[in-house]
Amino acid sequence: MPLLPEMTDVWQQTLNWRPSVQQQAQLQRLYELILEGNQKLNLTRITDPQEFWEKHLWDSLRGVAPLLRDGVMGGDREEFSPAFIDIGTGAGFPGIPVAIALPNCSITLLDSTRKKIAFIEKILPFLELTNVKLLTGRVEEIGQQPHHRENYDVATIRAVATASVCAEYALPLLKQDGLAIIYRGNWTGDENKALENAVKQLGGVIESIEKFTTPLSHSIRHCLYLRKVAATPAKFPRPVGVPTQKPL
Ligand code: SAM
Repeated sequence: MPLLPEMTDVWQQTLNWRPSVQQQAQLQRLYELILEGNQKLNLTRITDPQEFWEKHLWDSLRGVAPLLRDGVMGGDREEFSPAFIDIGTGAGFPGIPVAIALPNCSITLLDSTRKKIAFIEKILPFLELTNVKLLTGRVEEIGQQPHHRENYDVATIRAVATASVCAEYALPLLKQDGLAIIYRGNWTGDENKALENAVKQLGGVIESIEKFTTPLSHSIRHCLYLRKVAATPAKFPRPVGVPTQKPL
């Protein structure tokens, strides 16, 4: 099995965080399990160790960097266990690296494809992660279920839909003051207006937009941070398929 690069200095310099020995072993194990799984399921086309490190591991954790840095997500405060949901997690990104990096947080991985959730269920024991829950379903339906709606502190969402659609998926699931993190490649100022309009209807505000380059291939990325400031009207998320067909 190929070995992931350790990149301790890069982690430290870019995210002000570095994996412990145990976390490094978990990241390596995750890489191996995805490579194995890829032989049967089409999980990812990114298999080269450096590329996997950058596009799946580093990128996943870059989105939650503000939470890693501030130590707000647990650290020594064992009684505080923030609830995350990763919407459209696929093979577990960004949710599994986040679960490895933030062991005090509880992470729900949601995807509509049963096969992907079944794959994650199979690999979890090998990753020795006890802070992960799995959920199969469409987020439009999950967001209307009382035990999921307004139940999460943080929602992450990468490569699932346009930003306005992601906002409609994520904001109903958040508690008041919760944070949605939308992972993007490119982002132009022109897109702000449409997103602002959508977010306002959903009870949120755009808190910040961070632009950065990835450390190895120097590709441009953006993370959009949305804060929930008011209850989301009950009609959102709209029924399955409507958010993508008629974006806000
Ligand atoms: N987030 C992962 C990543 O960045 O590698 C996977 C991205 S993949 C391109 C999009 C995933 O979102 C797919 O696994 C798909 O099944 C899931 N998805 C799309 N629409 C969804 C919905 N409405 N509800 C739940 N999952 C959805």
